[in-house]
Amino acid sequence: MAKIMLFIDGTWLYATVPALAKAYGKDFQIDFGRLPLVLAEQVQAKAGGTVEVVRTNLFGSYAANYDERDEDSVERRLDFFDMLKEEYHYEIEIFPINFKGRRLRRADRATGDPFEPKEKCVDIALATSMLYLATLPEVYDIAIAVIGDQDFKPVLQQVRRLGKRVAITSVKASCAFDFTDPRDEPRVKDYDTIWLDDLLPQLELKYERRLLECQSPMHQGDRKVWTNYRPRRGKSFYCDSCREEFNKQKQEAQLEYTGSGAPAFSSPEGAAAPEPGQRMTGIVYEKKEGRGFGFIRADNNKEYYFHFTDLSVDLRFEDIPTGMRVNFEVKRDPSDSKAGAARNVRRHFED
Ligand SMILES: [Zn+2]
Repeated sequence: MAKIMLFIDGTWLYATVPALAKAYGKDFQIDFGRLPLVLAEQVQAKAGGTVEVVRTNLFGSYAANYDERDEDSVERRLDFFDMLKEEYHYEIEIFPINFKGRRLRRADRATGDPFEPKEKCVDIALATSMLYLATLPEVYDIAIAVIGDQDFKPVLQQVRRLGKRVAITSVKASCAFDFTDPRDEPRVKDYDTIWLDDLLPQLELKYERRLLECQSPMHQGDRKVWTNYRPRRGKSFYCDSCREEFNKQKQEAQLEYTGSGAPAFSSPEGAAAPEPGQRMTGIVYEKKEGRGFGFIRADNNKEYYFHFTDLSVDLRFEDIPTGMRVNFEVKRDPSDSKAGAARNVRRHFED
């Protein structure tokens, strides 16, 4: 039995899905639950014998420190990664991209803004993991690399030198020439490239619409709504109009922020500014009961806004007393006039 491990460049895959959808001719989405098995079948047909998928590793990035108007799309992508982790047992490694307060899409940014979002660590994390695991005995026999980028050429070569077999899965319109060479002069693969383009019918996510109850306390009308959204285990479901309403509330709440009187924007001597994605600790110093938001003063004296939808699944807004110690992930840095924003707020237990 040959052991297969998948290594997916999630950022690349995410970016190529629109092209795949176009090729498919409708609102195509990949069924990530089926992807590992469909690819393993392809490899088995080429390699012979029997194969088994031992793990699927996905490497990707997410926006941090972005303009709050893009909140919903960022949260949806993070939910998507969580879903892969929890429902399909993917190993997920994701890295924040600092947008420095800007909109995600270039078209939404000021004209002439030279800002370029810089992705960090993703390619190196994939390559390191694929190579390291190849040096360990019995971990995998065949790596399926779901990639398009030329940069991965050296790692594919090295993994093969270590005696592992490599299958490349890519998309015709976004694949480096070296991976498509039928004579494989670069010596990067053991099988012909597997094209996702040819597997679309097997990979299409078939939506099951279902009736779910919106759990927002602000929901208007019948709580049961039809949706094809799949809430994660233990997470509350909020309908589209409530989500839209939350975003409006968050923007308005930010405008109300006046600071607590604490020296909000001076860090203690020598304290480094937190990177987006970093976890910090602090106390909840203000709560707007009934409006579902509050503010945290972090240990570096900076202040961060949170909405009840930013709490971790095991913490309810009603159960937070003022003064409670929490830890949280920095979603957005504070600026001169605005509090920062927190996500994934948890009760903090002192060590
Ligand atoms: Zn609702």
